[in-house]
Amino acid sequence: MSLVVVGSVAYDGLETPHGKVDRILGGAATYIGLAASFFTDVKLVGIVGDDFAAEDREFLAKRSIDLEGLEQVPGKTFFWQGVYSADMNDRTTLVTDLNVFADFDPKLPEGYRSAPYLMLGNIQPALQRGVRAQMNGVKLTAGDTMNYWIKDYRDELLATIRDWDFLLINDSEARMLSREYNLRRAANAILDMGPNTVVIKRGEYGALLFRRDSHFMVPGYLLEEVFDPTGAGDCFAGGFIGYLAEHNCDLKQGHIDRVDIARAVIYGSVMGSFCCEKFGPDRFRTLTREEIDGRFREFREFTEF
Ligand code: AMP
Repeated sequence: MSLVVVGSVAYDGLETPHGKVDRILGGAATYIGLAASFFTDVKLVGIVGDDFAAEDREFLAKRSIDLEGLEQVPGKTFFWQGVYSADMNDRTTLVTDLNVFADFDPKLPEGYRSAPYLMLGNIQPALQRGVRAQMNGVKLTAGDTMNYWIKDYRDELLATIRDWDFLLINDSEARMLSREYNLRRAANAILDMGPNTVVIKRGEYGALLFRRDSHFMVPGYLLEEVFDPTGAGDCFAGGFIGYLAEHNCDLKQGHIDRVDIARAVIYGSVMGSFCCEKFGPDRFRTLTREEIDGRFREFREFTEF
């Protein structure tokens, strides 16, 4: 089942304790799309400048990602630069040059509008809402957001997530959005805002999924070496929604069983862990579905008792 992915397509400058790259393909939609492409067919919506390299387009196209919705306009591609702390749990943004992304006004190609699955990367809530309005018959809407929108665009954000099935958010943002410190209470407050499913990301410590009738916890996969955590949260989203799309799952209460939800969360974690093994999205150049399923089985073994 097709998945429409909307969000930033970027060049990133990254510095981690393992090294530094000045310019590498990045962006939330890039990571979500790449991760999801191992499960389902992906239709990307984004904007890039005329500096966007043909080889980067090719990389995405080789993963069978539909790029009809990737608009290319005069100007520079969105550029983001960040540096990570020694334990890589914190990062500082050094540069955010929106460039052509500042005028992003997503328009879905005709062939995208009937897709049943939609994943809205972190962009202005009104734009996320506008994208959903262009879809006819969407079955599952998922989205991400960040502190900036929670703080300064709260009403707009609340009006937007009201229509979502799934919200992906990190722990500090969940607290900020819900105004509750305890994560269980925070999750319940968010479930009252519209989504039927909330996943709270906890970086290397894993993720917590909450629904009205259940919750599920997954630890982070213990990699021996984390090279670069950039995009791990987006890859979690890509793996999670990708699995649901592959299995034609609906998240609405009473329409999905616990096993499928648990599997989707584990596949999300698996994709997030692979993302960290190389700089930027490079791990996805060679990754195979066999490796993904192998790590899924490993997860099952080390959490079973
Ligand atoms: P993550 O590590 O999952 O938070 O995602 C990192 C990606 O988000 C990077 O590749 C950046 O290009 C992109 N990014 C950083 N800041 C923003 C922003 N303000 N809006 C949209 N995308 C962003």
